[in-house]
Order: sequence, then structure tokens, then C-alpha cells
Amino acid sequence: MSIIDRAKSIVSGSQDDTFRYQCTSCMEIFDSEEAHMGKVSCPQCGDRNVRDFA
Ligand SMILES: [Zn+2]
Repeated sequence: MSIIDRAKSIVSGSQDDTFRYQCTSCMEIFDSEEAHMGKVSCPQCGDRNVRDFA
């Protein structure tokens, strides 16, 4: 796969590379492109106490 094709696939979002988290404060479940849990904050309440939600 060429570098251009790789870029296209990233831009088009054909790959499912989001991560699902759950806020431990308000229990909101949300998706984020951020792979590092420590950088994720809840979109509902802004709390950073989130966990992986499988
Ligand atoms: Zn929350």
C-alpha cells in the first residue's frame, strides 16, 4: 500500500480506530480517538476518571 493510499484510508475513516471509554463519575459511555486513557476527559462532565469500556 502506498503512502498516499494510507493517508486516504486515515482521512476517510474507513478504519475503526476509536476507543470506547466510560466515565466513572457520571457513567457516560463515549468514543474517543485518543488511545491514552490519561488524556481522555468525559464529554459530559469533564471528569478525567475514565475507564476502558469493552
Ligand atoms: Zn462524566
